[in-house]
Amino acid sequence: MQEGAILITGGAGYIGSHTVRLLSSQRRKIVVLDNLVYGHRDAIIDDQVEFVKGEVGDKELLKELFSRHAFAAVVHFAAYAYVGESVQNPLKYYRNNTSEPLALLDTMQDFGCKVFVFSSTCATYGVPEVVPINENTVQSPINAYGRSKLMLEWILADCETAWGLRSACLRYFNASGCAEDGRIGEDHDPETHLIPRVLMALTGEAGPVEIFGTDYPTPDGTCIRDYIHVNDLATAHAKALDYLQTGGASLRVNLGTGKGVSVREIISAVEAVTGQSVPVIEGQRRAGDPAQLVADPSLASDILGWRAEHLDILQTVRSAWSWMNGPTKGRYSS
Ligand code: UDP
Repeated sequence: MQEGAILITGGAGYIGSHTVRLLSSQRRKIVVLDNLVYGHRDAIIDDQVEFVKGEVGDKELLKELFSRHAFAAVVHFAAYAYVGESVQNPLKYYRNNTSEPLALLDTMQDFGCKVFVFSSTCATYGVPEVVPINENTVQSPINAYGRSKLMLEWILADCETAWGLRSACLRYFNASGCAEDGRIGEDHDPETHLIPRVLMALTGEAGPVEIFGTDYPTPDGTCIRDYIHVNDLATAHAKALDYLQTGGASLRVNLGTGKGVSVREIISAVEAVTGQSVPVIEGQRRAGDPAQLVADPSLASDILGWRAEHLDILQTVRSAWSWMNGPTKGRYSS
């Protein structure tokens, strides 16, 4: 356990809220900064957590927070993450994901806070030539979302050279699942991710699931992804914080299970968990979707001693279903 509060930006979002819950249960003092554009106030369930509504780019607010708390570290989740939207409106992504965090880094430099854990993404790799993807794979993103994140990775490296910032860039594969007790979960509007979309086809919140492409060079013709449980991502953040706060060197690691699951296999898993038949439409490929994205997660294991524990896709789907089919039907009230 480290001394000093941790600032968590975007802590009211999907991955952020699961991480806040874990870090707070480890008796760390947590301050969440979130503008609630996509996040939910109700996703912060621990009363010990201080919640501040505001922007990551608001220097006055940051100055006030850093003066009050003397943060030991920052965990930065706040970002927009819709790939399609990033293609339509790239400046929104560069502004929010790349430019706004500069004010946060400026403030960290001013206050001598030199530990940063960053939500990066496998989208920084683009279309990989070899799968599974390890960290030596060339980073060549194919959309503004991936580029907006990769640029922040570069900026963090430059800040290390200039003033000694140490950072952990955690490149997530497909975040999925929800807290096992169903108290917090995934509530996106619009929802574009595969597992919640398949479940919404059953709850009636959405029409049939469209499979985006059935002619990929994969065993069943549908895209393969690496679905990493959100609580495993949360654990990786805790380990990255411990590692950096005890003097570890900066790192860039993939966070995935190492196991690929196809779109059709996800649909079968949902049918097995719910006992219901999923209405499906076979559609065209979605622009920019690589056939396979699967992590080689061995570097995270070597450096952080972290491994995904949720390796059974049925377990991951079950947790998502318990949230979506629970008392709030997968929606926060605020
Ligand atoms: N997908 C699909 N139908 C949907 C949503 C997603 O067939 O309604 C596919 C998508 O083409 C991709 C996989 O499911 O191959 C995972 O997509 P998602 O949007 O969940 O995550 P991404 O891999 O784009 O980050």
